[in-house]
Amino acid sequence: MSRFMSSRFAALETYVPGEQPQDMQYVKLNTNESPFPPSPEVIAAVNAYEVGRLNLYPDPDCKRLRKKLADLYAVKEENVFLSNGSDDILNFAFMAFCDRERPVAFPDISYGFYPVYANLHNVPATVIPLREDFRLEVEDYCGLCQNIVIANPNAPTGRTISVADIEKIVQTNPDHVVLIDEAYVDFGAESCYPLIKKYENLLVCMTFSKSRSMAGGRLGFALGSAALIEDLNKIKYSTNPYNINRLTLVAAEAAVDSDDYYKKNTKIIAENRAYTVEELGKLGFTTLPSKANFIFTSCPKLSGGNLYRELKRRGVLVRYWNKPALQNHVRITIGSKEQMDVLLEKVREILKEV
Ligand SMILES: *Cc1c(COP(=O)(O)O)cnc(C)c1O
Repeated sequence: MSRFMSSRFAALETYVPGEQPQDMQYVKLNTNESPFPPSPEVIAAVNAYEVGRLNLYPDPDCKRLRKKLADLYAVKEENVFLSNGSDDILNFAFMAFCDRERPVAFPDISYGFYPVYANLHNVPATVIPLREDFRLEVEDYCGLCQNIVIANPNAPTGRTISVADIEKIVQTNPDHVVLIDEAYVDFGAESCYPLIKKYENLLVCMTFSKSRSMAGGRLGFALGSAALIEDLNKIKYSTNPYNINRLTLVAAEAAVDSDDYYKKNTKIIAENRAYTVEELGKLGFTTLPSKANFIFTSCPKLSGGNLYRELKRRGVLVRYWNKPALQNHVRITIGSKEQMDVLLEKVREILKEV
C-alpha cells in the first residue's frame, strides 16, 4: 500500500476471486462459468461492423436491451437496470440503500462479496448464521428492520428458499430493501421477480455470466420497482454512465433473442448435476441439494483442502475455502458430461490412494 491510500480503505479486505490460471489448461470447475459457448447468434452479432464502431460511445440507457429484457420478463422498461456484471449492481445497491442508519443483514455463509461491499461503504452488517446443514431459517429475516441481501440459490451451498418465504421477508421489512441475488436461478429454482409488481422494496439481481454463457462479457441486470431502479441510475450516472460496452450490448441483445438455446443448456446442466451427485454418492460423498450450476459436497475420507489439492495436481480445478465451517467441503461447478466424467475419474483415483 502506498502512503497515499486513503485511511478509509487501509484496512479493507478485498474479495478473492476463484483462480483464473493462464498457464495451463485445467478442467475448470471452480468459478461457475458455463461450459457452453455463447449462442451462435451472439457469436455472429459481435462482428467486424460492430467492432468498427468502437470509436463511438455505447448507449448509456441501453434502451434496446432493456426493452428486450422487459419483454422477456413481462415488466416495464422502467423496472430494468443494467450494469457491468451483477457485482456492479450489488456495489451500487450497497451505495444507494445502505449507510450507518440503514444497516444490512445477510447470512454468514453466502456470496463473499456482501461483507466486502459492507466494509467498502462503511455499512454495519448483521451476519446471520445459517442453521444446521447450511439451511437458511426464514424467520431469522422477518421483521428485521434492516436491508437484507440473500442469494437464492445460495452460494456456495446451492440451497434455495421458496418464493413464498421471500415474500414473507419482503412483506415484514416494508421500510427496507430486500435484495435477492438470483445469479443461479435459471438452473432449476423459481424466480421471485413477479413480486416486484407488488412490493416497492424488492430488488432482484440476475446475471448473464452463468446461465447465459457470458461471464467474459460482464453484464448483470436487476428487476425492481421504478423507484428503486431510479435510485440505482442515480449512482450509475454519478460514476460511469457508459459502464456497459458496445460489444457486450449487441452480444446480450442476441443472447436474449436466443433464449431457447440457454434454456436447453440449463436443462443439460441440471441433468449433469443429478448424474454427478449420484456418482459421487456411490463414492461416499454427501452433497447438499442444489438448484444451481454447482454442488457443495464432502467426503468423510478426505478434507476439502486435500481433495482440492489432489484434484488440482491432476488438472481439475474446484473451489475450496479454508474456513472452519467450510473446510470439509468443496464446491464443484457442473460442466459438460465429459468434464464431469474426468472429475469422477480423478476422484476415484484419489480415493484409491487414501
Ligand atoms: C457470480 C455471482 C455474481 C456475480 O456475477 P457477475 O459476473 O458479476 O454478473 C453475483 N452473485 C452471486 C451469488 C454469484 O455467484
